[in-house]
Amino acid sequence: MVAKAKGFMPEPEGLALYQVAREAAGRGLGPLVEIGTYCAKSAVYLGAAAREAGTVLFSIDHHYGSEELQPGWPHHDPEVVDPATGAIDTLPWARRTLRDAGLEGQVVLVVGESVTVARWWPGPVAMVFIDGGHGAEVARADFSWWVPKVAAGGVLAVHDVFEDPAEGGQVPYQLYQEVLASGDWDVVAETGSLRVLRRRALGGTAPTSPGQAAGGF
Ligand code: SAH
Ligand code: MG
Repeated sequence: MVAKAKGFMPEPEGLALYQVAREAAGRGLGPLVEIGTYCAKSAVYLGAAAREAGTVLFSIDHHYGSEELQPGWPHHDPEVVDPATGAIDTLPWARRTLRDAGLEGQVVLVVGESVTVARWWPGPVAMVFIDGGHGAEVARADFSWWVPKVAAGGVLAVHDVFEDPAEGGQVPYQLYQEVLASGDWDVVAETGSLRVLRRRALGGTAPTSPGQAAGGF
């Protein structure tokens, strides 16, 4: 399986994501959630896993691009700018990717701010994949709102975790380390900059908002 869309998910990491998602989805712990759809490249890997397990992926993005995707930044792609508004709009690209992959029934695109969706999100999830904005505040908000929603036995995947500052920004790495240090998680996969943790099944139901989370995450 190779996802052909524009995006930032190298194939080995996409395949690792798929394998972890398939296993997590098969445990009946709830749907899969992705923060940061962009053009749905990673959503194809996750959506394929959801399809096999009979569940769905909710992929969340406002589709206006992160700070590091705006004009003037190295990852900017002028093709995803909507000429009518002059702003990035990756929603049409994401829809096309999912249509081409035959995954429109398994991937629900949620268009909005990650934290706004999290505030109203009703329950636990089998997997959260965090790959949204990488700025310190935005990424911390994603972690504090979404990590507590991972069910006991469910998994947290984080992208762009670079131990070496020469390879990339340190924000996802620091947040990932904080979750790991909380002690409730086991490392289940490390591929490229993808890191995957499983929440230990002890301790009952996962809390669903930061206020309910005893130890932060
Ligand atoms: N997962 C994708 C890449 C995601 S790029 C892939 O592997 O192909 C990061 C995305 O996060 C961008 O599309 C950006 O619009 C989105 N994003 C950044 N901050 C966000 C926020 N606060 N709420 C929702 N989406 C956000
Ligand atoms: Mg990424």
